[in-house]
Amino acid sequence: MALSLDLTQDDTRAALAAQAITRADEKPSLIGMDRADMAAALIEAGIPQKQARMRASQLWQWIYWYGHTDFAAMTNIAKDLRAKLADNFTLERPELVEELISTDGTRKWLFRFPARGAGAPVEVETVYIPESDRGTLCISSQVGCTLTCTFCHTGTQKLVRNLTAEEILMQLMVARDRLGDFPDKPPVKAAAKNEEEAFIPDGDRKVSNIVMMGMGEPLYNFEHVKKALLIASDNEGLSLSKRRITLSTSGVVPGIERTGDEIGCGLAISLHATNDELRDVLVPINKKYPIAKLLDACRNYPGASNSKRITFEYVMLDGVNDSLADAKELVRLLKGIPAKINLIPFNPWPGSQYECSSWEKIEAFAEFVNANGYASPVRTPRGRDIFAACGQLKSESERMRKKDRETAEFAARAEALVQPAAE
Ligand code: SAH
Ligand code: SF4
Repeated sequence: MALSLDLTQDDTRAALAAQAITRADEKPSLIGMDRADMAAALIEAGIPQKQARMRASQLWQWIYWYGHTDFAAMTNIAKDLRAKLADNFTLERPELVEELISTDGTRKWLFRFPARGAGAPVEVETVYIPESDRGTLCISSQVGCTLTCTFCHTGTQKLVRNLTAEEILMQLMVARDRLGDFPDKPPVKAAAKNEEEAFIPDGDRKVSNIVMMGMGEPLYNFEHVKKALLIASDNEGLSLSKRRITLSTSGVVPGIERTGDEIGCGLAISLHATNDELRDVLVPINKKYPIAKLLDACRNYPGASNSKRITFEYVMLDGVNDSLADAKELVRLLKGIPAKINLIPFNPWPGSQYECSSWEKIEAFAEFVNANGYASPVRTPRGRDIFAACGQLKSESERMRKKDRETAEFAARAEALVQPAAE
């Protein structure tokens, strides 16, 4: 599946700009509030205390099952109450600055979220990758990153701010809006056989899987990420199975156990090196949480099992971490951990100091880990196709070229990652 983003969609851009929603007022959004928060907000707005929990539950269904943005459409809520809700709260979507659609259906959205406090508005990228058996959404948790992994473009951008639970969820909600992934009318609810049974079977969703692999380190924004993922996986919320949610971390050890205990989603670890000397350079947080500590946390990851394996992401850097000795060491290190290995061809960016390993080396590496019992899918390095496409955009302005290039990098990185992690 060749990925070449269609960058000539001026019509789409213009149409989106014309529709762009800017939040006109300061009303709080109900999106991103857990039930207790929402009940408290409703009481604050004058809704009788004894109704608040029930109303919160009704609202959740309208907001997350059906994706309604208009209180007036919530027909099981009395009219005067709907008016009160509209006076006090909003369900508005963020401004969608840009939507790029690849020929293969991959989509990338650029959102602009309003300023929080003294800050400026921020722009956030989200990528959707449809495949034959699933559709995966790659979601951002921060704007920029405090960590400085030397092979990562986001690592060159200072942290601007954490995204709120609302902003994290909005990426999924707008994806569902754009893909027509909210039902028009209440579907017949299947009899729930177990708590993982979703409102709509995940397999019938356009967005069936989500991965926290966009911009930022999710475990440095734990509370917001947790809140968002619990709503995403709640059967009265966006009702995705926790098995279809994967959080990727560079190795923030104290957050790993909490992720298993408090969120219960799948885990991916950006390992990338098999010794501390090299990992200190590639993933500098390793100086604080070295490999042995990181792998201990993985061994103890709540809920990990052979059917719920931890994904180890390993970027293939030419002459740096791609030898057979590295592959051997990787297998040794992961012994006893229910793991799969996701080999990611390095996606170069302007100014990056690494090259991607040759295809032969990647294959040899993959074969070795495979022969030793680890699933080790390698994704076609689509980033190369995209860079070729970007290089052809001679008529675009410099600013657009830069933005498109970043878009392409992001999409490629997400593409390279999602499938194995989301199994
Ligand atoms: N901060 C988290 C999640 C976001 S990064 C983390 O580091 O895990 C998602 C994945 O993209 C990580 O595995 C990261 O190591 C990888 N990545 C970053 N830059 C890359 C590049 N240029 N080429 C390939 N993979 C990259
Ligand atoms: Fe941050 Fe992850 Fe990039 Fe490292 S790889 S700089 S943790 S986004």
